[in-house]
Amino acid sequence: MAKTVTKSIGIKVQPPKESCTDKKCPFHGSLKVRGQSFTGVVVAADVHKSATVEWGRRIFIPKYERYEKRRSRIRVHNPSCIAAKIGDLVRIHECRPLSKTKHFVVVQKIGQDILFAQKQELKAEGKVKQAVKGFPGEEKEGEA
Ligand SMILES: [Zn+2]
Repeated sequence: MAKTVTKSIGIKVQPPKESCTDKKCPFHGSLKVRGQSFTGVVVAADVHKSATVEWGRRIFIPKYERYEKRRSRIRVHNPSCIAAKIGDLVRIHECRPLSKTKHFVVVQKIGQDILFAQKQELKAEGKVKQAVKGFPGEEKEGEA
């Protein structure tokens, strides 16, 4: 592998320790970052240097004087020098469109969402319960 220099990308982030030969890497390739930046949790990561990042936000509803929970979910580029995995807390930054759905890139791995695994388990349990409830079985038998 050719020696690649880790360059500054113009924002205050810790550059990755590892190096890569990815053209679409902001540290080792020719990708420039600009625009918005967010922090979120990786909810899906695939082998093609892509990932899905999700984060929650609150919207105030004046009529009910309460907050509504909303979440944003976007596809991001995941350079091989960072290689974020499911459950990782990451900082993402906007860049040029890299594909039809990707226009953000992971710039830093901040840590891990400790509660992520628990949340996923709860979600899975909820789905199982729903499936059991929606299962058409006993009622129909009783009718017939
Ligand atoms: Zn890189």
